[in-house]
Amino acid sequence: MSDTIFHKIMRREIPADVVYEDEHLIAFRDIAPQAPVHVLFVPRVDIASMNDLQASQAEVVGRLVVAAAAYAKREGFAEDGYRVVINCNEDAGQTVFQLHLHLLAGAPLGRFGTP
Ligand code: 5GP
Repeated sequence: MSDTIFHKIMRREIPADVVYEDEHLIAFRDIAPQAPVHVLFVPRVDIASMNDLQASQAEVVGRLVVAAAAYAKREGFAEDGYRVVINCNEDAGQTVFQLHLHLLAGAPLGRFGTP
């Protein structure tokens, strides 16, 4: 098993503000939020980055997206809107090499993609 900081959070070896979990994934607040709401959705299966995702693992990403959308509805900001982001490798600034989806919300987020 890989041993990133997110694996330690999943094993409850380090604390995190967990907002949702099930048998497939865990979701917790980002330690350095980039928006009023910044939650990370992390699959339990080991996948370092998007580059390591197999076609047979499409459901892994599907579950992250569905869980994020459900969280947005539950928390009441789905209609206002939100953004989901998956960073892959250096140019996108990926720092933790366990696949994860960022959910950002709670204020107008502006445009994105500018270096
Ligand atoms: P990445 O840059 O890899 O797409 O995203 C990694 C995210 O993990 C960053 O937004 C960073 O703030 C967050 N992060 C790093 N270490 C921790 C931690 O120990 N706890 C929590 N909750 N988030 C973390």
